[in-house]
Amino acid sequence: MSENVHTRALQLVAKGRVEGLAQLESEWLAAHLQECEFCNEHARQTDRALRSLRTAAIPLPADLAGRTQFRVRLRAMELRERQPQRRMLWLACAASWIFGIASAPYVWRVFEWFGHVTGAPKLILEISFGLWWTIPALFAVLVLLLEGAGQAEEPEWMKPGR
Ligand SMILES: [Zn+2]
Repeated sequence: MSENVHTRALQLVAKGRVEGLAQLESEWLAAHLQECEFCNEHARQTDRALRSLRTAAIPLPADLAGRTQFRVRLRAMELRERQPQRRMLWLACAASWIFGIASAPYVWRVFEWFGHVTGAPKLILEISFGLWWTIPALFAVLVLLLEGAGQAEEPEWMKPGR
């Protein structure tokens, strides 16, 4: 048998799976596949590949990819919306820390003067001075807590019949 015969057989195998064969073509192919193990094996492999493609495609809902993409995009938008607020909070916090460090000597002088005037013990002055430093941190924690509480309560407000 010449090369041309096998080439034609393989072409017909492919054509048969895509658009179907004319009666003469399919009769010729069936006859060839019966006597040619090589082309027969190729036809079987083609069928097997097509079948596994079809069974793999069925369990996935057609819109799954679209829905997943939508959800990911929604989450990304949500994060992007919240980020600038966070950055402003940290900037404000950092600015107040820097201001606190720069103003520390003056603040301590005010506390000292306050001690001289009122006669308060030095320990109380030092504790007050220490607390002065925690004000920016306390403020930041308070804002974070309020933000978290607001988000936790949101779904409750949206529930109907309440
Ligand atoms: Zn052949």
